[in-house]
Amino acid sequence: MASKKDTSQDEESSEASGRKEEDESDGAVGYLQQVLDKLKLFTETASEKEAASVDETEKPEQLLEDVTFEGVANYIKNGKCSKIIVMTGAGISTAAGIPDFRSAGTGLYDNLEKYNLPNPQAVFEINFFKSNPNPFYTVAKELYPGKFLPTITHYFIRMLNDKGLLLRNYTQNIDTLERVAGLPGNALIEAHGSFHTARCLDCGKEYPHEWVKSMKNWLGFFHEIFADKVPYCPECNGIVKPG
Ligand SMILES: [Zn+2]
Repeated sequence: MASKKDTSQDEESSEASGRKEEDESDGAVGYLQQVLDKLKLFTETASEKEAASVDETEKPEQLLEDVTFEGVANYIKNGKCSKIIVMTGAGISTAAGIPDFRSAGTGLYDNLEKYNLPNPQAVFEINFFKSNPNPFYTVAKELYPGKFLPTITHYFIRMLNDKGLLLRNYTQNIDTLERVAGLPGNALIEAHGSFHTARCLDCGKEYPHEWVKSMKNWLGFFHEIFADKVPYCPECNGIVKPG
């Protein structure tokens, strides 16, 4: 999820779209509050229309008593919604210490300069990976599962699921912290894949999480990449990539 620093209401509307991309490392809370503020503007606009005698039947049903965090929380607590979809990105994991991809100086892309990538995103493109898997494994080392702990946001999503309120968590993150927090796989869509499992690009053999995470087994995925080796499939010698 893109996020940015708190700004005053005045500057927010003109700057929101431009700064959203740059400032991914800031807390998700500020970003959520902006979304809520925008919704508030929308409802105010609706009220103005109503004052100008717009047909009552066109007015959308107001679901929240108040467009604030409290309003959202009360709506959930009243049992009026039980199919919550949570969409998450880098912002929920930066507090766990995971470097995001774009922050200058600390972002993962900065660690890839030595590889002269055609563009930073090439590290996640399959054709580039097949020609040179090393930049991807450099990123993988940074994100080794077990090195980081979930944040309160990850546990909040798990709590929604425990209470039967979560329909699905869609995440851009590949750090598996949703699973570490205890969210079951059937409640989770990892849009960019994750390090939970891995697959051989040649024979398609799937490798389980324990194999991926193994530092002891000489064939374990992370055992190999921490030794700066490319992990190869024991069955066919193809390159193994997290899925
Ligand atoms: Zn294979």
